[in-house]
Amino acid sequence: MILVTGGAGYIGSHCVLALLEKGFKVLIFDNLSTGHIETVNELKKYGQVDFIKGDLTNFDEINSALKSNQIEAVIHFAAFSQVGESTTNPQKYYLNNVCGTLNLLNAMLENSVKRIVFSSTASIYGEPSYIPIDEAHPKSPINPYGKTKLMIENILDDYDQAYDLKSVRLRYFNVAGADLKTRIGEWHEPETHLIPNVLKSTFGNAKTFQMFGDDYETKDGTCVRDYINIEDLINAHLLALEYLKNGGETNYFNLGTNDGNSVKEVFNACQKITGKNIPVEVKSRRAGDPAKLIADNSKAKSVLNWSPKNTLETSIKTAYEWEKKLNKITEG
Ligand code: UDP
Repeated sequence: MILVTGGAGYIGSHCVLALLEKGFKVLIFDNLSTGHIETVNELKKYGQVDFIKGDLTNFDEINSALKSNQIEAVIHFAAFSQVGESTTNPQKYYLNNVCGTLNLLNAMLENSVKRIVFSSTASIYGEPSYIPIDEAHPKSPINPYGKTKLMIENILDDYDQAYDLKSVRLRYFNVAGADLKTRIGEWHEPETHLIPNVLKSTFGNAKTFQMFGDDYETKDGTCVRDYINIEDLINAHLLALEYLKNGGETNYFNLGTNDGNSVKEVFNACQKITGKNIPVEVKSRRAGDPAKLIADNSKAKSVLNWSPKNTLETSIKTAYEWEKKLNKITEG
């Protein structure tokens, strides 16, 4: 059985679905602070999923979850992930992300579970000093969110050295898209990400899409990001699990496409795919947004034998199908 923390959230739920489709049994541990019970109930249709509503900041809750189940490995998604909020409420981020993960790791040690795949982020690199960004790029996160993830990566190195706990850290660039069959998708409240926000602006009573800055030093003045499709991203988690099972050493990989798209390009692609004229207004820059972030993914390709297959178009199409479904769920 695989323990998936944060399995009721966006990325975690897609991972649970992929694990179930591979025949794994899954235990979801999630406090439902940002995840949804509806997602857990949907996942239960596709295989053996147990669910514990628990909080990682409570050591006893995670320890008893590990004690009472036969867990072979952990995939750890549970975290707060809003950059802006992390700067105004760092207490929440350090407590949940860092202390919560320490409880998880200590409970793993107590129950002799020695393998973890950890959801890390390109935010650990901070302002890029070169593009594309490889794993050796200097790490100097510019917000508390990125700092919590880097702290955890450092803790994981020390726990390997001292306790032989093996980890794979997957450093995500911009994750996009939804399940190809529209069973689950991205469901954040509030939504802050580009693609869902553009798509939400296609609905009748929706807000105008706000484009944060068109005066960057990029091809069209808007920020460039590396959009990695959710199915491709999850596939790397399955490969990482296999890598650890086969005795792989602690390691870390960038997950992106080696390519970038500007906000305007994404916006135009959304208009084309939806066939709608999407209302837009250009606002000032959002604090902390670097002009350009693109991954060098060659290490994941060579070591994990991973390669992204889906295009940005697929991510937008699947996200749009999901947004239509979500609109019905949330609007009743
Ligand atoms: N963005 C935007 N309007 C939005 C949301 C995002 O213009 O409503 C821009 C944002 O400023 C950034 C890019 O889209 O340049 C990607 O932002 P997102 O929040 O999706 O991901 P991030 O790069 O912050 O992880």
